[in-house]
Amino acid sequence: MRQFRFVAILTVTSITGFMHRPTHPPAASISLAVVNARIWTGDSRRPWADAMAISGERITSVGSSAEVRKSVMPATRVIDAHGMMVVPGFIDSHVHFLSAGFGLASVQLRDAKTPREFARRIGEYAKTLQPGAWITNGDWDHELWGGELPRRDWIDSLTPNNPVWVSRLDGHMSLANGAALRAAGITTATKEVAGGTIVRDAQGEPTGILKDNAMSLVDRVQPNPSPEEEDRALDAAMRYVAENGVTSVTHMGSWSDLTVFQRAHAAGRLKTRLYAAVPLSTWERLRDTVKTHGRGDEWLKIGALKGFVDGSLGSHTAAMLAPFTDAPNDTGLFISTPEQLYAWTSGADKAGLHVIVHAIGDRAIRTQLDIFQRVEHEDGPRDRRFRIEHAQHIAPPDMSRFAELGVIASVQPYHAIDDGRWAEKVIGHERGKGTYAFRSLLDQHTRLAFGSDWPVAPATPLEGIYAAVTRRTLDGAHADGWYPEQKIGVEDALRAYTSGGAYASYDEHDKGTLERGKLADFVMIDRDITRTPPAEIVQARVVMTVVGGRIVHSRE
Ligand SMILES: [Zn+2]
Repeated sequence: MRQFRFVAILTVTSITGFMHRPTHPPAASISLAVVNARIWTGDSRRPWADAMAISGERITSVGSSAEVRKSVMPATRVIDAHGMMVVPGFIDSHVHFLSAGFGLASVQLRDAKTPREFARRIGEYAKTLQPGAWITNGDWDHELWGGELPRRDWIDSLTPNNPVWVSRLDGHMSLANGAALRAAGITTATKEVAGGTIVRDAQGEPTGILKDNAMSLVDRVQPNPSPEEEDRALDAAMRYVAENGVTSVTHMGSWSDLTVFQRAHAAGRLKTRLYAAVPLSTWERLRDTVKTHGRGDEWLKIGALKGFVDGSLGSHTAAMLAPFTDAPNDTGLFISTPEQLYAWTSGADKAGLHVIVHAIGDRAIRTQLDIFQRVEHEDGPRDRRFRIEHAQHIAPPDMSRFAELGVIASVQPYHAIDDGRWAEKVIGHERGKGTYAFRSLLDQHTRLAFGSDWPVAPATPLEGIYAAVTRRTLDGAHADGWYPEQKIGVEDALRAYTSGGAYASYDEHDKGTLERGKLADFVMIDRDITRTPPAEIVQARVVMTVVGGRIVHSRE
């Protein structure tokens, strides 16, 4: 099979190689053509075009409608874009694909605005389940009702027969009800877990909230989903992102997630391209796996490792240089120690693997930048593309270090308009200046990759672009933008969602721009967002999504 494909690729290359720069390749090979479009190619040599021809999985030409129409054959599917915009497929550089897929089918708490509503939805959902079935995900946000953390006694009487283990939308804390605490054996006597917190009431009784590493106490007793449930979650996730124009993702997950992806790939079911990262602490296993099996193909690729320095701002677990403004004795926490992070980063780097590390607080970011700098110094030059995920609160002296060290800032613009509602309460106004500082990063020539952190935020790149361009917080409190000096342009944002993401996954030869020879991954949008007033970008809709020359979503 492998050999057959290799021969096929060679043949195609030699045919096109001998022809002298064809303006339109042999007509018989064109399977799909897009005409009459406003194509933003992302290719600086030819930023705009109005038509594109595709043969199988790849683009064979980008040019004028007249040119492309000449190559159309009866078997070619021709899409008339009626002047709509076409852009390279969006790359969401930070998702938790399977948990998001599971979340689509679970209780929806993201917009529960009061404790009463929160409890009511969990109670209603419990009624639809068999006794003993777990209620998970949820994505609640206690900031919507003023910041009081939920407690088990809000829901215990409504869920006597079902363990509840619902997470805050950032995934850095979860609420367990009495049944889940019992299943995990958590009592007043349970000891604290390093890098985590068991929230307790005045009597020392656990309230049900567990933060960061303490969440493992319940995670490990939660039953594993069946393969069928996993497949359904993956399919739901792929459908959702296709509807939103996402054609590739970097997935932050586990080894067991890889099994689910491999099963779908073997069955030909993938319609999202996956770059699947596994935990940084398991770098030796990944080194051995890559040695035996390689790094995969353009549908499912491995080679990346994801680590954590700290937690999140919303959970007060981000590691800060100075205490939180609203908690003067608290500077957050480290999920992994700097010694562990150094050892893992160094080992993984020597093995030629791709190191991606979550760092939110200014102290966490500085710690990881120091580690990257040290490892690069020790191991010498290499195309390593270290990534810091979130890079949320950057201390002023560290702003230029991303570009200096070649570290990619993998950031999530939707968080800025979401957390912007309350972040100053937690870190004050001054530190807010280096928060989601996309303009400052770009001014330093930092490579940006945009993503959503779905299910922490919706995987909707058009909303992400709107967020980066307007910085209008979700509560409507900042019409001109929250820290408006950090707004960026529409094309800056488009690049961060396309070529920026391609670079962040070593895929720039295949993806990120629309040009001859690249994968035919693209999105049709109902308006040209480079000409839309910024505040209206949020109304733009994805009309069609194509991955590898195949339509995976269409509104018609
Ligand atoms: Zn994440």
